[in-house]
Amino acid sequence: MGVILAMDIGGTQLRAAVYPANNTTPLAIKRSATHGQEPGAFDRLTALIDSIWPQEPVEAISIAIPGPINPYTGFIIETPNISSLSKFPIGEKLAGRYHVPIFAGNDANLAALGEWRYGAGLGHHDLIYMTISTGIGGGVISNDQLLLGSHGLAAELGHVTVLPDGPVCSCGQRGHLEGIASGPGITRYVIEKLAEGISSSLATKTNLTTLDISEAAARGDQLARAAFAYAGEFIGLALANYLQIFNPSIVILGGGVSQSGDLILEPIKASLQQHVMDPYYLEGFELTTARLGDDVGLLGALAQAQIQLTAK
Ligand SMILES: [Zn+2]
Repeated sequence: MGVILAMDIGGTQLRAAVYPANNTTPLAIKRSATHGQEPGAFDRLTALIDSIWPQEPVEAISIAIPGPINPYTGFIIETPNISSLSKFPIGEKLAGRYHVPIFAGNDANLAALGEWRYGAGLGHHDLIYMTISTGIGGGVISNDQLLLGSHGLAAELGHVTVLPDGPVCSCGQRGHLEGIASGPGITRYVIEKLAEGISSSLATKTNLTTLDISEAAARGDQLARAAFAYAGEFIGLALANYLQIFNPSIVILGGGVSQSGDLILEPIKASLQQHVMDPYYLEGFELTTARLGDDVGLLGALAQAQIQLTAK
């Protein structure tokens, strides 16, 4: 039996791992920087693949992309942090070079697959994964299938309107959940309140980060706590909508903001209970945090290849 080469393209790091086709323990794992002097991101990617290429036959290359991608054609629509890969036919380019099946998917969708197959979602058939960090991404597993949609562009759970006249989102639209509840959204809330004259230990801080706010909240800073409560309220509201649309048995939260623990989880739970149309949706329902850590993209890519190869 051959091996699977899993790749995760991140905004700062490229990761590659070789997995046995039926196992999650990597035979090899390598990383390199996404950006740098020449060459560009794609050449850096192929250099990494060449350097980890195994002796065993490679059954497939499976790759997690940080942006919307058409997984049916392997065409990247956009990669906000890596301009050279936007509108780029990565599937075609890799297939032409390596002559093995290429599978590519959005990183949040693949994280949902990874958590479902190997992580916090094990045993569930209907699952929602949401990552909350610089942006908010998501993936939906419905009846043991990853929801992709007609162009493979499902499920942008962060780009839903929750406050029509709210702040401008990274996508350009106004009032999206990502604009309010992502790391930059939480930071913006604090900066706006400080400008209004609200007192806080954060007033003297320059280059404010979500971590600073989280630490201030742990020390009892009221503004910092209010910032997480505000974000949590909108995340809970969005989740109530998702529960009614998809009726999952579990929601898994990943990304840096979810690591703030009860600071963000408690307001999410309270808001979810307040906004869900019927408490029956919450019976046996689990809200939890991701389990796979930094390797979630690689394991999601592995899961994608295993599913696709089995379906052939
Ligand atoms: Zn948006």
